[in-house]
This record gives sequence, C-alpha cells and structure tokens, in this order.
Amino acid sequence: MHARVAAVGGNWKMNLDLAACRTLAGSIASAARAETFGCEITLFPPYPYLPAVESQLRGTSVRLGAQDLCERPNGAMTGEVSAAMLVDVGVTTVIVGHSERRHIRGEHDALVAAKLDAALSAGLQAVLCVGERLEDREAGRTLDVVLAQIDAATASITAGRFSGITLAYEPVWAIGTGLTASPEDAQPVHAALRAWTRDRFGALAAEALRIEYGGSVKASLSADLIAQPDIDGFLVGGASLSADEFLRIVRSVEQSSLSTAP
Ligand code: PEP
Repeated sequence: MHARVAAVGGNWKMNLDLAACRTLAGSIASAARAETFGCEITLFPPYPYLPAVESQLRGTSVRLGAQDLCERPNGAMTGEVSAAMLVDVGVTTVIVGHSERRHIRGEHDALVAAKLDAALSAGLQAVLCVGERLEDREAGRTLDVVLAQIDAATASITAGRFSGITLAYEPVWAIGTGLTASPEDAQPVHAALRAWTRDRFGALAAEALRIEYGGSVKASLSADLIAQPDIDGFLVGGASLSADEFLRIVRSVEQSSLSTAP
C-alpha cells in the first residue's frame, strides 16, 4: 500500500484561453463535488488565469497551483511574479525546476534552489522537478543527474522545510514526446531519490516524501506506473488538457490505492 496520499497535478503550460480554462477547471471541480478523490489534485494554469480557475475550484478539494515563481520577494523584476503574489490569489503549490525552464529558459541549479527557498519561505508547497536528458540516460548517467539536481536544489533546505516538497521525476526525453518511461525505467529512479532523501533527511522524511512521475502520462499507462512502490502520483502535461483523460488518470491512482489497501 502507498503509505502516502497520492497526488496528481495538471500542468496546463502555455495553453488554453480564459474561456477554455474556466471550462476545464469547471469540469474537474464538478467531478470533485460529485465524488471523493483518494488523491490530492492540483491544477497549474497559466498565470493570468489563476483567479478565474480559483473561482471555479473554490469549495472543492482541488488545489490551485502556479507553474513558476520569481526567486526574489519584490522589486525591479519586470515580468516576474513573487511567491507572495501567488499566495495572494489563492495558490497553494508551485512547480520549481521544470525541465522546460531549465533547458529552454536556462535556469541553473542555483536559481532553482533560490526559487525553492522562496516558495517554501512563503508557505507554498513546491513540486520540485528533476530529470535526465536522453543522452544522460544512454550514457548511464540518469541517477548521477537526478541526484545532483535534488542535492543542489535542497542544499540550504532544513529537514523541517523539506516536508513542503513533492518531487517530480520527469525524464526530459519523455516530456511532451509521447514517450513514457516504463515502470521498469521509472521505479529505480524513484527508489534512488527516496534513498537519497533517507540519507540526507532521515527515514521519516523519506517515507513521507511523495515522488510523482511525469512524462507523457496517459490513462492507459498510469495504472502500471502507480502500482510501483515508489511512484506516488503524476505530474501530467498534455493529457491534463482533457478533463476526461485527466480524471481517468486520477481514478487510476485511486483504484491502485484501494486495490493495494490491506
Ligand atoms: C510536464 O510538463 O510536466 C509533463 C509531464 O508534460 P507531458 O505530460 O505533456 O509530457
């Protein structure tokens, strides 16, 4: 049985318009009113649509997330959004270190660490993303890369604040490509991240840590992935743009928790 409450996030990236965000959030909110999900759900819309999505989700268990934040608290940072601003509009959770920001926007480990610190300091939950590129995997460097990323991002994080983090293992070669890591590819990486956490923050922190998998997750594949002992949920990109597909993934997570309950 998964000792942790599983979590599923929908990362809408730079997609949809205002009306479509309202419709998609409204469909997921309606489902959340009609049934009790056995996992935590968070939606990550684009910044401008956060208030509209917040009003759709109000009164449900579905959480509001943001896709990024600025590492600084305020000031001359044109175009940036601070942690406090996110909290102000009802955000509870923020993605940090997504591979699209690391590799397209050039965010380096020190910036990821500063953003993580800013998020946790503001009382936000953080979904910290790590993942290797295809050339790293082919060269047998997957664990070196992901462990170096978590090490760098959490270098100044105390054990008390580590509980605000959910990890997302997102192999770069699987994001938005239609290639999903097999359970045999993903489970050893999740297990290594948990073992690293045990060494650094202790057994309790390691047991409590949720490690989501992300990378072209679809409902047809999610049941096999969530059945792995160290996979505790999903960060879903493309498939989260369809309420039906996203809810199928959510339900596969619940069924796995139920079917493995003692
Ligand atoms: C993501 O952006 O975090 C992601 C996993 O995207 P996709 O599901 O589209 O691969």
